Amino acid sequence: MGKPTGFLEFERLSETYEKPDDRKKHYREFVAVLDEAAAKQQGARCMDCGIPFCNNGCPVNNIIPDWNDLVYHGKWREAIDVLHSTNNFPEFTGRICPAPCEAACTLGINVLPVGIKSIERAIIDKAWASGWVVPQPPQTKTGKRVAIIGSGPAGLAAAQQLARVGHDVTVFEKSDRIGGLLGYGIPDFKMEKTAIDRRVAQLEAEGVTFKTKVLVGSKDLPAGINNDAESFVSAEQLQKDFDAVILAAGSEVPRDLPVPGRELTGVYAALEFLIPQNKEVQQGKANPINVKGKHVIVIGGGDTGSDCVGTSNRHGAASVTQFELMPMPPEQEHKPLVWPYWPIKLRTSTSHDEGCSRDFAVATKEFVTDGKGNVKALKAVRLDWQGGKMTEVAGSEFELPCDAAFLAMGFTNPVGGLLEAFGVDKDARQNAKATTDGEGSYKTNVAKVFAAGDVRRGQSLVVWAIREGRQCARSVDEFLMGSSLLPR
Ligand SMILES: Cc1cc2nc3c(=O)[nH]c(=O)nc-3n(C[C@H](O)[C@H](O)[C@H](O)COP(=O)(O)OP(=O)(O)OC[C@H]3O[C@@H](n4cnc5c(N)ncnc54)[C@H](O)[C@@H]3O)c2cc1C
Ligand code: SF4
Repeated sequence: MGKPTGFLEFERLSETYEKPDDRKKHYREFVAVLDEAAAKQQGARCMDCGIPFCNNGCPVNNIIPDWNDLVYHGKWREAIDVLHSTNNFPEFTGRICPAPCEAACTLGINVLPVGIKSIERAIIDKAWASGWVVPQPPQTKTGKRVAIIGSGPAGLAAAQQLARVGHDVTVFEKSDRIGGLLGYGIPDFKMEKTAIDRRVAQLEAEGVTFKTKVLVGSKDLPAGINNDAESFVSAEQLQKDFDAVILAAGSEVPRDLPVPGRELTGVYAALEFLIPQNKEVQQGKANPINVKGKHVIVIGGGDTGSDCVGTSNRHGAASVTQFELMPMPPEQEHKPLVWPYWPIKLRTSTSHDEGCSRDFAVATKEFVTDGKGNVKALKAVRLDWQGGKMTEVAGSEFELPCDAAFLAMGFTNPVGGLLEAFGVDKDARQNAKATTDGEGSYKTNVAKVFAAGDVRRGQSLVVWAIREGRQCARSVDEFLMGSSLLPR
């Protein structure tokens, strides 16, 4: 504990942002990271409270009190070592993690919690700037070959862990860039992709081989799923060529909204808009969907919806409205009731702050045509929620002008065909079936085939994908070598 009285002396200081009107003009990151003095002071707010609930609230179990203390004492080099001991990519989580650790912070019971995420980001940014993040190639090679399908955070974390203990790892990715949803999906203004590219260079130097534009398992992809593949590898071939296979293919099938007018031009799944926007920003290929001057309605209130809001505002939409099926949650949680768990409360993202009208307890009934195959309006109805059940409020139907609608209601399951191609059993939600604890964790029913990340747990968070990738790597290492020194 850096300073015993720090939590009494210092207020929480959050990262600041460029003004909404300015940042809406570009797609770059707009967060001002804490400087060293501020991070040190914020680290001093940690009470080292004995039972570190934050450490349990963090899915990768970051050892938060230790690095808070090290930052307070100016021991940045040691701080990044502690941080890297549990998290392969703190620059990803330091940017886009919703920080369940902060909901679990003991200080947060009666005042604002320690700004854990902002300190995490300050540590890793300083580490990169200081040249402390270097490849850690293995001392010896095992001669074992591991194939990983999918290059999102789960695949990358597994690849790094396995390469560092000497296995030959090849990552197969159907997109033309590495990163999964971090690269294509999450807007550049939330995370600039140089953060991924420098990690890819590190992994390559550690011995990982990346094969982009390669589709694995099945060519049977539903319409609208991003696919840049120029070649194909069958499940049988991979099982023949590799000693272990990890499915880290994410969960890309979007939940649809089968109401009248769904087929109209102007009604899109969110990633049909967001991925081409990444490509426009990163490669200069124009996004075929342009909402400049249009009335946009985003259906769904999570991260994906919020990203559609931010992107629409950057296009210069005439108006942006966001619908949520659920009623508006409370602005402030009842701490004694929910701490240290992740509370349900109103979350306002930086994209909302850039301009968005939010409406809750609303169900979409129909997309209205302009008579030429385009959407021109949306019909909706208000909902009454009682005891977890919704009913439509009689007479509450309304219509809004709508030139573009983005469906951001979550994702249902991994893209069809991949699990079938490997013969992997599915759970009740159609994800790859594998446990996370005990003997054979992350192992599927098929010999030498493992699964980690969203493909196993369903669409989730980057930090959970990193956790699963790390834990799966240990399980694969045990399977290949009989035992493992990798952490769980
Ligand atoms: C728009 C959006 C915004 C989000 N915002 C946040 C956020 O702010 N914070 C947060 O924590 N989480 C966020 N998430 C969730 C987060 O991105 C995911 O939970 C995380 O990326 C899952 O990681 P993963 O490695 O399991 O899979 P993914 O990142 O989905 O990567 C899977 C990869 O596998 C590839 N693949 C699939 N099938 C094949 C195949 N057959 N052959 C070859 N390659 C294949 C895919 O192309 C993809 O690149 C967001 C998600 C979306 C969609
Ligand atoms: S990874 Fe997320 S939950 Fe863990 S310490 Fe960082 S911000 Fe908190």
